[in-house]
Amino acid sequence: MMVLSGDEAVAQAALDAGAAGAFAYPGTPSTEIMEYLQEHIGEAAGAAGTVRVTQWCANEKTAYESALGVSFAGKRAMVSMKHVGLNVAMDPFVNSALVRIHGGLVVVVADDPSMHSSQNEQDSRLLAEFARMPCFEPSDQQEAYDMVRLAFDYSEAHEVPVLLRITTRLAHARDLVTTAPARAVSDMGKTGDTYAWVLMPAMARRQWAGLLAKQAVFRADADAASRLELGSNELGVITCGLGRAYYMENEDDWAQAHGGERPTHLHIGRYPMGTEKIGALASRVGRVLVVEEGYPYVERDLRGIFGAPLPVAGKMTGEIPLAGELSADSVRAALGLSPREAVAAAAIEVPGRAPQFCQGCPHADSFTALKKALEGEVEFFAASDIGCYTLSALPPWNAVESCVDMGASVGMARGAASVGQKRAIGVIGDSTFYHSGMTNLIDAVKYRTPMTLLILDNGTTGMTGAQPTISATSRLPRLLEGLGVEKEHIRVLEAHRRAIEADAAAIREELAYDGVSVIVMVRECIEWLKKARKS
Ligand code: SF4
Repeated sequence: MMVLSGDEAVAQAALDAGAAGAFAYPGTPSTEIMEYLQEHIGEAAGAAGTVRVTQWCANEKTAYESALGVSFAGKRAMVSMKHVGLNVAMDPFVNSALVRIHGGLVVVVADDPSMHSSQNEQDSRLLAEFARMPCFEPSDQQEAYDMVRLAFDYSEAHEVPVLLRITTRLAHARDLVTTAPARAVSDMGKTGDTYAWVLMPAMARRQWAGLLAKQAVFRADADAASRLELGSNELGVITCGLGRAYYMENEDDWAQAHGGERPTHLHIGRYPMGTEKIGALASRVGRVLVVEEGYPYVERDLRGIFGAPLPVAGKMTGEIPLAGELSADSVRAALGLSPREAVAAAAIEVPGRAPQFCQGCPHADSFTALKKALEGEVEFFAASDIGCYTLSALPPWNAVESCVDMGASVGMARGAASVGQKRAIGVIGDSTFYHSGMTNLIDAVKYRTPMTLLILDNGTTGMTGAQPTISATSRLPRLLEGLGVEKEHIRVLEAHRRAIEADAAAIREELAYDGVSVIVMVRECIEWLKKARKS
């Protein structure tokens, strides 16, 4: 038995299931899956001569495609990412549902309801449905472990990837997990029918028909796996994933208030969901409450299954908040129970504080230089990307004006500049530049867009805990030249307090240039330095 977070349980299960390859790009709340894998891969080494790889990749798409290659080579693979990362990997994700998966392929996606560290709270269950891919959703850490192992078997049995959806609290909270005996790394060799991997129209049509035919099996298996506990005729509760835990915290109190009888309870942990047990619940109860985290996905479908007479409560009717994470208290209110007695904590005066850069962060010096360079200018547009430097949108900096998606700063600055915006500036980190900034820069070079890109090169992916960046600082200027940026407009500057005047002057010069210029501001992230010293 081990004490594991949801992320760690997922990683341990991949090791124990004999996965040969694991690939990821860091993103909260999924980062710790790869961190755990890299820490423990040595202990889990397979048979002599077995190759096992765990790699951070340039982005989620490259990670996904690497995992797909492992599967085609006949071995088990896992790819993990946060929910918005799945948007980046959407092309291989949707198409991989059509190819014949060989070695099991498990796609772990960690959703972030309440947007603790994300731009939105999209629900990956809908994207699994969009791809017609089976989706497993654990309700606790033990189930996360068990479901990953099952998902590898299911993927191989049905020749389809399986998406495992977890959410923030499950990913980060710890619980006891009983592990099962580890199996060796499997090697199925290459399959004979590689046409099943070629999505040219004739083959794709055949594969699509096959995928559609499998949906009935996925539904029947999901139905069989769902758990129906008969109880009250008055209320039926349907829980999904972590919603089960919040409901279970309140079930006893509901029973106490209703003569000892518990609601009839159906727990759904796999999709596309079946309809038989839902039908059994519906024929028994007078009303239904749906407890699910994310979008009202099951609730929406239930309305079609039940028809008009059976009242369904949940997110669409307002009993459960439509936005944000669930909590034991929000589910309690939806069950019609009065709030629990709270113990009043002693009042502590905590002054409000906006999130800030770490003390000594190189970004602070970069933004001081940028603001100095823009002093007296009224016409400028500074687009930011996603990283610690996005905090410069807040006081006291107020230095950037946008944050939309990975790599977008370059495209937005380019777009604005192309219609006459003066001093169009993109601000991006090194990791984000490699992730998806480079292709936008190629567009800017092609159209000779008058813009300046600041690459804040701190040598790491700082925001997610200092994971290694995919390429070294020393190679960046050559890469920029290779992308077509003119050598004399590639500046490498030190992001340091002592260099602020010189940096500001260089930025001013490049802002005056009528073409693409790139300024690389270099100094290591403090957190990364601390981590490097410890290792
Ligand atoms: S983690 Fe690194 S990059 Fe992020 S704020 Fe701290 S020092 Fe700066």
